[in-house]
Amino acid sequence: MRIAPQALAEGSLPLLRRPDFRKFLHLHVLGAGGCPICRNVAWLDDRYFSRFQRENFALAKTWNGLTRSLGFCAADGARTVAHPSGQPAVATVHEVLTRRVGKILSRVVSTRRKGSGGGPILAEHDRCPACRSRDDVTGRAASFLATALNDPEALRQYEGLRSVCFPHVQAMARYCGGSILQYVLGVHKIAVDSAAESVAAFDREHGADRNADEENMVGALLKALPLTAGCNRTYDLFEPPLADKPSPTSRGPVENLVEAMSRNDGCAVCIEMDRTWVERMKWLCGKISEGCEFDELLPVCPQHLWAAVCDGPPLLVVASVRNALRIIAGQIRTALDTLAPSSSPARRGMMPRIREAIQGSHRRLGEARDVIGRPLPCPACTLLQAARDRTLMLLSALLKDSLRRNAFERGYGLCLKHYSRALALNPSPEMHAFLTEVEAGKLALLRWELEESSRKSPWSSRPESSGTENTAWKRAVARFSGSFVWSPE
Ligand SMILES: [Zn+2]
Ligand SMILES: [Zn+2]
Ligand SMILES: [Zn+2]
Ligand SMILES: [Zn+2]
Repeated sequence: MRIAPQALAEGSLPLLRRPDFRKFLHLHVLGAGGCPICRNVAWLDDRYFSRFQRENFALAKTWNGLTRSLGFCAADGARTVAHPSGQPAVATVHEVLTRRVGKILSRVVSTRRKGSGGGPILAEHDRCPACRSRDDVTGRAASFLATALNDPEALRQYEGLRSVCFPHVQAMARYCGGSILQYVLGVHKIAVDSAAESVAAFDREHGADRNADEENMVGALLKALPLTAGCNRTYDLFEPPLADKPSPTSRGPVENLVEAMSRNDGCAVCIEMDRTWVERMKWLCGKISEGCEFDELLPVCPQHLWAAVCDGPPLLVVASVRNALRIIAGQIRTALDTLAPSSSPARRGMMPRIREAIQGSHRRLGEARDVIGRPLPCPACTLLQAARDRTLMLLSALLKDSLRRNAFERGYGLCLKHYSRALALNPSPEMHAFLTEVEAGKLALLRWELEESSRKSPWSSRPESSGTENTAWKRAVARFSGSFVWSPE
């Protein structure tokens, strides 16, 4: 059951079953109560994907951008596949990408065969174009709002708003002058304190009661979650929640990776990151139901807070949001202290005091912007980055064995993002050549399937029987973007 946004605007809280808990929170963020910059970004984001599917997929500019970024990021890749008119545009773009990136890989393979070396040219890639477009929209909206606050009337309205999310307060801070920033942070501090109080009130009432009424839990989170993490458009793509996923079998890391390497259905590193994530979240869920305190392990960044909303039980979401609010409140406090003028010694002369007043305020503004713009320290990001790099190092060690190399060649190999990361970790020349040859082979086969699928799409070719090439467009997205959507940036 979806809840109409009008119902949210009127503030009614219907009784919710578990899946609706997530939908309700998400709709609230996009509804009347959410951050205006989030709403603007979400609206323009939809336009980006609609325009991509309708017209931009056929432009050289799009192909160039996606070649430099090695496709979309995993979340935006999943979003393009889920788009109602996804297939033709996604297939066309990835046919071009397999051709272009395949050529680069073949060039690397042949120069290495000739013994002329060749640097790790795919070790770096640009940011995903959809993410870049989102960054641009965010920057423009944040700058617009910050500039508008120079008008006293707008400033007065801003106080009534109190719903700009923290990620977008961070974006606005870059464009605010000293006094406006002080004002914005003051307003946000009141909002954060009030949200923290509503979460604390829930805690006092229910504690770690697993069967606490979800209606109350939603009530506690209505202000707090959007304020902390803004909106995340990845939300609707990933069901079922964690509780419905099987627990990963407990083996050693070597056995886990050996098994993942021989699979044909996905990149070994993506599989391992997913396993690490599920394992960590299940552990956290178990601990939270026992009433344990472990703030230092809870997800904090907006992406992983929303991942907790999608994957975790409501009590874990409440604990994570409470912890993130505490960190945000600390960051705001430090920034406000930094902005406050230090008491200058009364005995100093007039000119040094004037100079200090002018230069000091510039310095304090710069420092306060740095403090507020600092990314929140997220244990989930650290865990997943380590899982990615440690898995790639283990893979490199395992592939020294020829039997394991054969299994890896027969299996899926790596997605382009993790192939690129493997090169960034400076593998030996032999490992570089081996990984590149495997990747080039996988990409050549994928390209053939994509071409075969588009050859068979006209009516005249319909009588020919078709096979797995029908799904090549989806597999192409996974090959470029990877399949683990909560990857840290
Ligand atoms: Zn926002
Ligand atoms: Zn992206
Ligand atoms: Zn991968
Ligand atoms: Zn994170």
